[in-house]
Amino acid sequence: MHASASHDSVYLDHAATTPMRQCAIDAWVEHAHAVNPGSQYAAGRAANAVLQEAREQVAALLGADPVEVIFTGSGTEADNIAVRGLYAASVREGAPQRVVASTIEHPAVLEPVRALEAEGAEVAWLEAGRDGHVADLAALDQPAAVAALMWANNETGAIQPVAEAAERAAAAGTPLHVDAVQAVGKVPVDFKGLGLTTLAASAHKFGGPRGCGILLARRSPVPVPLVLGGGQERGLRSGTVDVAAAAATAAALAEAVGEMEAEQARVRELRDQLVARVRSAVPGAVLTTSEPALAGHAHFMFPGANADAMIMLLDGLGIAASAGSACAAGVVRLSPVLEAMGIPDEEGMGALRLTLGRTTTEEDVARAATEIGDVVEKARAVGRL
Ligand code: PLP
Repeated sequence: MHASASHDSVYLDHAATTPMRQCAIDAWVEHAHAVNPGSQYAAGRAANAVLQEAREQVAALLGADPVEVIFTGSGTEADNIAVRGLYAASVREGAPQRVVASTIEHPAVLEPVRALEAEGAEVAWLEAGRDGHVADLAALDQPAAVAALMWANNETGAIQPVAEAAERAAAAGTPLHVDAVQAVGKVPVDFKGLGLTTLAASAHKFGGPRGCGILLARRSPVPVPLVLGGGQERGLRSGTVDVAAAAATAAALAEAVGEMEAEQARVRELRDQLVARVRSAVPGAVLTTSEPALAGHAHFMFPGANADAMIMLLDGLGIAASAGSACAAGVVRLSPVLEAMGIPDEEGMGALRLTLGRTTTEEDVARAATEIGDVVEKARAVGRL
């Protein structure tokens, strides 16, 4: 029994994390006894063989070479190594102390960019419109030490123009990092074909274990490592690699990519049903998610409703969802992503993110759709207090 899919609960927060796939659990358990893959004796060589097989599998599934696959401790760690490490490498080679990044990046990218800014880098921001899409990529035409554009936004699901960004960054000689944490396993990814410098993914978003990230890093330019040590993972991520987690990650990714087309079509259909039913149940509902977008995302704004009240009321009914609004020091404030999109408080404070995934059924959608009208009405009453 896993908590997220117990009999009568409805889990609509797959963008936060998704239940582990059985094939990943099996691989995880099978290799739980793996010793240090850096050891030279037979057991070490056996562990290393499992690790290399996982690396080859991940590489083939994402259009990379095995040597370009770096296992990390999270998507956050992969993002940090890429942004800070590429910046340091470029500046060392004489690049301008300039960073280009979108305003809607996940904190795993945004915070390293802000840290570089505090250390003296000039940051050129790629702005998103009200539809959640970055349209103007002109800032990429001037050389920078590093540029970052996420593949798909975690709150709205909006897919960003990464192919065009890759071309323009390459033309300016700027290394481009793409945070593909929400996209991997849901849309086809061809690292080499796109010409990206680095890409971040996270196993727990596609049915692998939590605490295992993937950094794809081209042979050159190489990020300057943030953690120094034994030199594992091409020196980019020192520390003994978790062989079982790597094997589980590869197994989950293989299954996700194998069923991608059919599964994404199924999820999209359920999502569209949910959107239509929510719109008819709630007067004034605004769908924030705008195409092109991930198939499982339905981000709504219910003007006048209190997001926290919605989450708690839904939770009381056994429905797990997320608001996307950050709670800083006890003060609920507008989500920085919605703020960056120019959404006013009145709308954005009533945000509700429903994200569907592999375990989502028609019954889940029906349950959520049946309850939502009443929940929003009550949350609007709280909003008026
Ligand atoms: N980037 C995006 C777009 C995400 O959605 C997340 C997770 O929510 C991360 C990065 C961080 O990944 P992890 O949870 O593996 O640190």
